[in-house]
Amino acid sequence: MNKGRLIVFSAPSGCGKGTMLAEILKDEQFYCSVSATTRSPRDGEIDGVNYHFLTKQDFESKIAGGKFLEHACYCGNYYGTLVSEVESRLEQGINVILEIEVQGAMKIREIRPDALFVFIAPPSIAELRRRLNKRGTESQEVIDKRVAEAANELPYAKKYDYIIVNAALEDAVSDFFAVIRAEQLKADAREKFIDEVIENA
Ligand code: 5GP
Repeated sequence: MNKGRLIVFSAPSGCGKGTMLAEILKDEQFYCSVSATTRSPRDGEIDGVNYHFLTKQDFESKIAGGKFLEHACYCGNYYGTLVSEVESRLEQGINVILEIEVQGAMKIREIRPDALFVFIAPPSIAELRRRLNKRGTESQEVIDKRVAEAANELPYAKKYDYIIVNAALEDAVSDFFAVIRAEQLKADAREKFIDEVIENA
């Protein structure tokens, strides 16, 4: 069986990443790793489903115990990818999506250069602010912080393999599947197939 592909999926807050992922995850070939965080749950968020919500102390003991593939500090809270969320699923042939910010993504770039890096960009910063205001889950202060963070994150987009602009959900999701298809058709992903055709000639 072919191993699954590790997919790093990053987007500044308010880029519609959550709605895009909900569409992508309807396809059972994909699993989105559940991260650990020290931030408080938002209304409706469930422990173990949206995140593993940990205390700072628990998080730090997991860092010390080598339980994270990567971790980063974002807007004053820890976020991290647990090894246990990723490796066994890749072995089972499932494509594992890491929905992580840019610092974590750059760490994965170093340790897993075989991963696929996809950045979701907003059409503009003004549109991003409008979406965050409309979502209404954060205070104005947090929104300002997240907009500033988005402006800091955008230059990193150039370090990813693909950039998808989420102006319209349907188009962005179909761009994502186009990227996956293109990757599956790459010559180095097809070597085994070509060898089999040659052997059976
Ligand atoms: P939020 O608080 O809006 O759920 O997430 C804030 C940021 O943390 C987002 O950019 C999200 O992609 C990122 N994030 C979520 N989980 C992880 C993780 O495991 N590792 C890293 N590095 N970033 C994460």
